[in-house]
Amino acid sequence: MIYSGKFKVTSPFGPRTLNGQPDDHRGIDVVGITDKYVCAVTHGRVAASTIITDKTDRTWEWGNYVRVDGDDGRRYYYCHLSKRLVTVGRRVKAGDYLGIEGNTGYSFGTHCHFEVRDRAGNSVNPSTFLGIPNACGTYGEDWRGEVQKKFGLSDGTMKYLDRYEHAAALFRKLGQA
Ligand SMILES: [Zn+2]
Repeated sequence: MIYSGKFKVTSPFGPRTLNGQPDDHRGIDVVGITDKYVCAVTHGRVAASTIITDKTDRTWEWGNYVRVDGDDGRRYYYCHLSKRLVTVGRRVKAGDYLGIEGNTGYSFGTHCHFEVRDRAGNSVNPSTFLGIPNACGTYGEDWRGEVQKKFGLSDGTMKYLDRYEHAAALFRKLGQA
């Protein structure tokens, strides 16, 4: 899942109206509720971790973004981050932290624009890779909160665990155990 905790979809994939203009939304917009750590949804290698500031390049709209080339041959884009936590070349597993949600680039409020492209470069419906419907709503489980309750951990311990790069996967595993 793209967050370890609860999150909401604020704008689904597909045609929409943006600031009064028809627009084809090629990704899905998600906002973390439990926390703002954006996680890899699949295994792969970090192929880009950057921000483009040259406005003649439309990629500037993504602000701080991370691209993961999945082992499945697809490209995964995580955009508008306030902070990137991975560097190019790193292998990531599903659940690893990639960055912190933000409002960089062409963005109106903190969120993550998540986009998936197939081998031919076409954007595909990203909700499939999140295991959720392509619709506004609240999704996910608060595994972090479950684990804190279940094991009676202090806020200090939780903050310490948050720094672990595989924390999201750990919380899910312990929460389900
Ligand atoms: Zn978007």
